[in-house]
Amino acid sequence: MGLKIYRTKRDFKHTPEPRGKTKTSFQKKIPFFVIQKHAARRLHYDFRLEMAGVLKSWAVPKGFPLKRCEKHLAIHVEDHPLEYAKFEGVIPPGNYGGGTVMLWDIGTYEVLHCDPLSALKKGKIEFTLHGKKLEGLWTLIRTQAIRGTKDAWLLLKNVENAKPLTLKAQNTSVLTRRSMEEIADTQEAICQNNKKKSRPILR
Ligand code: MN
Repeated sequence: MGLKIYRTKRDFKHTPEPRGKTKTSFQKKIPFFVIQKHAARRLHYDFRLEMAGVLKSWAVPKGFPLKRCEKHLAIHVEDHPLEYAKFEGVIPPGNYGGGTVMLWDIGTYEVLHCDPLSALKKGKIEFTLHGKKLEGLWTLIRTQAIRGTKDAWLLLKNVENAKPLTLKAQNTSVLTRRSMEEIADTQEAICQNNKKKSRPILR
């Protein structure tokens, strides 16, 4: 997919989100994942897996299922740049995805049985997360369109229940310990990878 769709959807003069340039810098390391809590028009969680030099991304309206056999809808969306993994802040209203973004969890992941890219192509990714909040095994499975949603996948909790999250874990940033309200109030975007620390963009 590459970053073309990501870039055409955004005007980087008006959003603090990274434009993205890194291609393969993390290749030799264990791949990482990130989950961002995003209060856009509707609250959802963006799940991103580092793969082939980009972040393969899914929007999960209900967040990660924690109970065994629970399934949540996950909509496959455009690839994001690797730099996005450190993005937390406010996308100004009127921009694509306008709203508050919290870096909710980060860590490494492993794909079972085959390499990540082939699993993605096959439409079934069985993976283990080693995050600060989430630990355990989940599966993403491509499905038929659900209620008109294009590129619908299901995110399924396998094998056993995940450790329940404390209220604090549910509601604070893994990067800055801030709540959604605090991120929205300070309006300060943090984007460590490309050293972009933007001032609030007010319109
Ligand atoms: Mn989002």
